[in-house]
Amino acid sequence: MSSPITEADSFVSPESSSVHQPEIFEVLKSRDTQVGGTPVRRALPKKRRRTIGAWCFADHFEADRRTSMGVGPHPHIGLQTVTWLLQGELIHKDSLGSNQLIKPGQLNLMTAGSGVSHSEESTNKSNKIHGIQLWIAQPDATRNQGAAFEHHDYLPETNVDNATATVLVGSFGSATSTARTDTPLLGVEMTLGTGSTVIELKREFEYGIVVLVGSVAYKGQAVTPGNLAYFGSGRDEMMITALRPSILLLLGGEPFPEKPYMWWNFVARTQDELTTAYSEWQNQSSRFGTVASSLPRIEAPKPYWL
Ligand code: MN
Repeated sequence: MSSPITEADSFVSPESSSVHQPEIFEVLKSRDTQVGGTPVRRALPKKRRRTIGAWCFADHFEADRRTSMGVGPHPHIGLQTVTWLLQGELIHKDSLGSNQLIKPGQLNLMTAGSGVSHSEESTNKSNKIHGIQLWIAQPDATRNQGAAFEHHDYLPETNVDNATATVLVGSFGSATSTARTDTPLLGVEMTLGTGSTVIELKREFEYGIVVLVGSVAYKGQAVTPGNLAYFGSGRDEMMITALRPSILLLLGGEPFPEKPYMWWNFVARTQDELTTAYSEWQNQSSRFGTVASSLPRIEAPKPYWL
């Protein structure tokens, strides 16, 4: 499912930028919103927490097919989209010509660079859809380059204490994903049995946890679906206790050194760049190509600064 940033969680000035805070722990409630009729819990961005590493957006969605028909063609710039499913299936189509079915345990990674458009469509087979859509901010080094798309049928797994870990991006324990990363980054799904698991961390990374199923605790404080647990940097490890069988997503990375301006489906560095992307999508510029989709194209809302 894709994912407009509205005024409620957009950032077009750098003033509220995340401050790097080592070894902190805080639980931030996700914002309930909707994407194409599908209810989502938006864990990122938050007013006080815009990024975790380069991770800049996280929508946890759970819906039946009656309310989830998919999202029609819409554009992106300056980010990578990560689609990860626990249940159901989706078809990804984009302006590069990709047409890719994705099932649970598989990874779709689309790089927008200077511009791409895509749709995410339901199939007749999935009655229930459960998953998470994430964005990764691209650094200046790659954000003005071309678009790309990767699908990974299989991802590396590793076992840690009470948990099985599937590595979407980056390296965790003995497992390394071959998915593209433009900045030092980690994305891991952990399936935990009841009990404690010690997770090895990198001191230079900051981390967050989004619980997708069940309930976990850190130092006695519960973290459940609908919340983001943020851990600063500076830790070598942390102990997570699953209060019952649980599935979580561990996100990490080096604090993103650039200041992303986010509005609608765009990640940029200045308001002018956002305005240009808005105009070019509305004018059907070749910048974003076309998607072979039967779903209606999504028009951009007018930026509130225009
Ligand atoms: Mn999208």
